[in-house]
Formats: sequence, C-alpha cells, structure tokens
Amino acid sequence: QCVAVCPTGALMELDQVDKVWKALNDPTRYVVVETAPAVRVALGEGFGLEPGTIVTGKMVAALRRLGFDRVFDTEFGADVTIMEEATELIHRIEHGGRLPILTSCCPAWVKFFEHQFPDLLDIPSTCKSPHQMLGVLSKSYYAETYGIDPQKITVVSIMPCIAKKYEAARPELGQDPVTPDVDIVITTRELSRMLREAGIHFDHLKEEDFDHPLGESTGAAVVFGTTGGVIEAALRTAYEWLTGKPLENVEFEPLRGMDGIKEAVIPIGKRDFRIAVTHGLGNARTILEKIQSGESHYDAIEIMACPGGCIGGGGQPYHHGNLEILEARANAIYQEDRSKPLRKSHENPAVLKLYRDYIGEPYGEKAHRLLHTSFTKRPKI
Ligand code: SF4
Repeated sequence: QCVAVCPTGALMELDQVDKVWKALNDPTRYVVVETAPAVRVALGEGFGLEPGTIVTGKMVAALRRLGFDRVFDTEFGADVTIMEEATELIHRIEHGGRLPILTSCCPAWVKFFEHQFPDLLDIPSTCKSPHQMLGVLSKSYYAETYGIDPQKITVVSIMPCIAKKYEAARPELGQDPVTPDVDIVITTRELSRMLREAGIHFDHLKEEDFDHPLGESTGAAVVFGTTGGVIEAALRTAYEWLTGKPLENVEFEPLRGMDGIKEAVIPIGKRDFRIAVTHGLGNARTILEKIQSGESHYDAIEIMACPGGCIGGGGQPYHHGNLEILEARANAIYQEDRSKPLRKSHENPAVLKLYRDYIGEPYGEKAHRLLHTSFTKRPKI
C-alpha cells in the first residue's frame, strides 16, 4: 500500500473515501468519527465560506447525516495528551530526565527526526498523538463502558494532514488483538468531497454537539490546531500543577504568531522554563542542530512540520502559502478557545472521569500501555 507522507500536500494523498463509504454501508460495523481542531476552521472554505469561519456545529451535524454512529472530538484526545505530556515533563524535571522535551504529535516531524536525528530519539515525548489516543480510547474505554465489541468498531479520523494516514498505519500504534487504534484517515478536502457526494447542503444545516463522553474538550485542546498551541496548552496545566496556584492569564502571547522560530522564558514557580516553538522542518533542523552542538538549551520545544501548524496542513483546502488565510484560521482557533467555559485540559470533567474510572494515574502503567509509543532509528535519507 502506498501512503503519501508529504506534510504540505505537494504530493497527492492516498484517497480513502471509498473505505469510509464501505464502513458506513456495512451494518455490522460501529463507525466512530473524530475531527481535529484545525478542520473546523477550514472546512467551510470548501463550501464558499470565508477562511477562518468556525463551522464546528455544522460539521458535527453533517457527519451525523453521513451515518456515523458516534461523532467524537480529537480535542478530547488533545486534553488527554496534555495530561500525559505535562506529567512527563514534570517527571523528567523531578527525576533528572533528558531535556528538552519535544512535542511528538506531528507524524511528519516524527518521521523526520527518526531519519535525521537518531541520536536524539530519547527526547521527544512518548505520547501518542491526540487522534491516536482518541482511537485507542474508543476501542477500549468507550467500548467497555457501553458494552460494544471493540472488534466491531471502525475509527475514522478527519485530519488536516496527509502524514496522519501514514501515522495510523504504523504497526506500534495499535493494541492486540484490536488493531489499529485508528482505521481510516481522511483529510479536510476528502470530507468536503464526501459531503458533496452525499448531497448534503452544508450551509443549511443546524448546529449540533459532539457525542459524550469523548466529545468533551477545553480551550487548551483547540489551540493544538495552530503553531505554539501544544506547548501553550501544556504550560497551562504544568503551571498549575507545579505551583499549586491558578493561572490567571492562559494566553502565552510570545508563543503565538507566524514567526518561524519563537523563543520565550516563562517563569513557573522558582524555575524559568526556556521554550521554543518552530514550524517548518527547515526551522526544526536549525533548532536541533543547536541542541546537538550545545549552543542552545531549552526545557521544551514544539515542532510542527507545516507552516502555521495544522491549520496549514497538507490536507486542508489549498492556501498556497497565503499568510492571510493562515492568520484567519489561527484567529478562529483562538476565538474558539476563548469561547470555551474551561480552558485548561486538567479541568475537563470527562477526562478526569476517564482517569478516575479507567486509566488511573497519568503516566502510569495503563496510561503507558494505551497512550504512549516508541520511536525507531531509521536510515539517514
Ligand atoms: Fe500533519 Fe499538523 Fe504535522 Fe502538518 S503540522 S504534518 S497537518 S500534524
């Protein structure tokens, strides 16, 4: 099977729409769909809406019209990712682990460092990416809670990303005997096409909500969709866990914006956290070479392959490098964050219930089994 991994969409993606139709038309399958944060601020462009139009509620309604049994939100997985990644960061600090910690939710970036920086394989976070976490939780926690045979569940991810198709096919991202975590990945553009094929009048739809419990999310999960968002979400939680004090201003301005490399020193309690954020693999290489040479010292770095992060992903409606389109999508992400009643991942009540009833401690034994992964040294290309 040939799977395109080009992060920017310069190569055409493997079309998996037929596989989704087949699953939806199979009455023996229980078909769950999840959608990434960046999709909801770009999908409308496929129906003539302005870039940055937020279509979350219409998108959920449209997915129900297509026939999905449950409409979940990758943002639930993003909140779980922060529970794990913030704990991992604190664990490394308290136990003398290697820093900086690198975010690892971008599969194009993961593939890049496996080939190009095999000596740094122990510094990325071992967290699976949010859609993989949502997939495995659908087939474990959700299946067990609601008495559904996990072998009958098909998980479909709607992603802004072409590399996520490759990621879902990685053999380590699955559970025996129910593999893989995510069965099918389609892009924002493929979803637009499906909705047109089904004759759904997108602009006429009334807004609907995601299904519970894997549809609950906070503002911290929304900002995953744009550059700087993952590290900002992690800091919102790490700050409160490390200081025991409420974080009043959750918006970390120095980490936002379209500069290729952003740096900030964030004081948390008695320690200054040195943070870097990059997007684009050329910028990532610059940062990592400085780490290798001992020239730079950071505590945490977010790296995303696409310009602007996932809002500029290769599976999104084409933006042709237009900065105005990317900024409109980023502004929509921040608007969605501000509209949420809860803006810190560790306050998501459905996530707290997941840990209380099923996972146990973040970064514990069960969390590692379900929510963490490993990386592979690959030949330099
Ligand atoms: Fe995919 Fe986002 Fe990475 Fe681009 S930045 S390759 S869209 S995960």
